[in-house]
Amino acid sequence: MKIRTKNHRMKTIKLLPKNLIAKIAAGQVVERPASVVKELIENALDAGATEISIDLVEAGLSEIVVTDNGHGMSRDDLEACYLPHATSKIATVDDLLNIHSFGFRGEALASIAAVSTITIASKQTSAVGGWQVTVDKGVVQEVEPVGMPDGTKVTVERLFATVPARKKFMKSKNTELRHCLDVVTALALIYRDVSFVVNHNGVELMRTTSYDSQLDALSSLVSEVFAHGALPIDFSQDVVHVSGFLGKPDASRSTERHQYVSINQRPVLNPELKKAVKKGYGTLLEPRSYPQFVLHIDYPIESLDVNVDPRKEVVRFDTEIHDVLAHAVKEALQEHDVSYSTSSALRDMDDVLGERMKTKTKPWSVKQLNESEIAQLHNVYLVVESEDGLLLVDQHAAHERILFEQLYASYNEEREESKKSILDTSVIIKLSAADAHIMDEYHDTFTNLGFDMEAFGKNEYKVDAIPTVFEGRDVQAVVHDMLDEVTSPEEVEYDNMTHRTITYIACRSAIMAGDALTQNERRQLVKKLFECEKPYTCPHGRPTFIKMTQKELDRMFKRR
Ligand code: ADP
Ligand code: MG
Repeated sequence: MKIRTKNHRMKTIKLLPKNLIAKIAAGQVVERPASVVKELIENALDAGATEISIDLVEAGLSEIVVTDNGHGMSRDDLEACYLPHATSKIATVDDLLNIHSFGFRGEALASIAAVSTITIASKQTSAVGGWQVTVDKGVVQEVEPVGMPDGTKVTVERLFATVPARKKFMKSKNTELRHCLDVVTALALIYRDVSFVVNHNGVELMRTTSYDSQLDALSSLVSEVFAHGALPIDFSQDVVHVSGFLGKPDASRSTERHQYVSINQRPVLNPELKKAVKKGYGTLLEPRSYPQFVLHIDYPIESLDVNVDPRKEVVRFDTEIHDVLAHAVKEALQEHDVSYSTSSALRDMDDVLGERMKTKTKPWSVKQLNESEIAQLHNVYLVVESEDGLLLVDQHAAHERILFEQLYASYNEEREESKKSILDTSVIIKLSAADAHIMDEYHDTFTNLGFDMEAFGKNEYKVDAIPTVFEGRDVQAVVHDMLDEVTSPEEVEYDNMTHRTITYIACRSAIMAGDALTQNERRQLVKKLFECEKPYTCPHGRPTFIKMTQKELDRMFKRR
């Protein structure tokens, strides 16, 4: 044990200075520009606004202005609103159990003020003029009168300028901007009668109108493809009510970005809720694919704890809602008679792509082999001696991995050689504001891949050519896959459909569990597996082998 020396003497306890406390607390609320956008919009909605505009400069890092036409603040309220724990929304402990507003912690404005320069201007409907206050690096400036329309305008400048550590963690401007757009999208899906306008560096990126139907909102905010085949869900059990729309299994994407859940009109990110929905789809989904959905859950307010997370993005329930949700989804899918449609889509794909691959590739078979000394267990697993212990290899998974990499290699070769293929008639695709933004950002990447497309009206693109490897495919689906691919945080090397198809072909052509293998075949299978770039998992993500070191074996046998 270390003895504390003089140098490491315990320091005496001191209370932290106020501005430091504020900065520490702010860190939990204000993670990135999108957190500011979210808090300010929520305040506007709490104030009953029907028009909210969001103006961003440099993805919000230089400036965020949120203007609303809500009920505004009096001069006295304006002088208090940026103080920590200042709120007009709850007053007693009992209120905490009955929260109908977004806000209640009274710390958003204080947190933002701690890490930026904030100017709040507000005019109540009944007042003759408005008032304005600026808090600059924690220093409050004089409240002064200002001429302005009814409502509130909050300007946040130089976010994180005094918190270099946080600033360093910001992703690219494009990523931060995308997060801001995602925040607005999630709220706009719930507040469909509120008009949201987003401008970035003076360019309008998004404008929501009063939508005629929920499907119209989905089409413009999420995507046309999703809205087109979306299946309505309307389910009640006891105190829970679930409504909204579920995407068809074959409209699945390769990221979770297109999954929206709200509880009592509050967007939430609870991962277990998304998992429950996925569970409801069951085997209708390919591994690694994420269904798109927009779900609204109504739940008794008194049974919901929204005070578990400073950003209020995760809520807690006092009963298990997950099973209800999974059941609701399953039932809705059954009602609409959604069967396992992807497999037939894959089979079609398999014909086209598989045929091309077959003429190019001679699929590696375990039959072309030499000698070995490997045991086969139950015709499923191979037992291989390794340098420092043993390996148990799953023969099917191993062969799948080998074929998968082989097929990809030739697919890639073809992709490289392939020129673009001109479409008979150009296709117009309509994207959500966030997707359109990604498209502009990655336009060159798309062009290099063999796409020919140009902007065609707001958030619309005209596609005239696609890479030859995508010939015969649904253009809109391909473009969506590619958008997911370029923005996916994971390393996705190919578009979703191609990955699934090649996985499918590899799986179908691989030797099965139950196939007896000769010594030579076993040896070659293992050798080929370790020549793979990623030998550790099969294309579905299951392990191909398990390793046991001699040390571990020794320990199990209590050998020292
Ligand atoms: P909370 O929303 O949790 O109450 P905030 O720090 O976000 O805490 O806001 C503090 C208070 O400032 C709110 O309770 C509200 O009274 C007032 N306020 C903030 N933004 C607005 C707005 N856009 N319109 C009217 N009042 C606002
Ligand atoms: Mg608030």
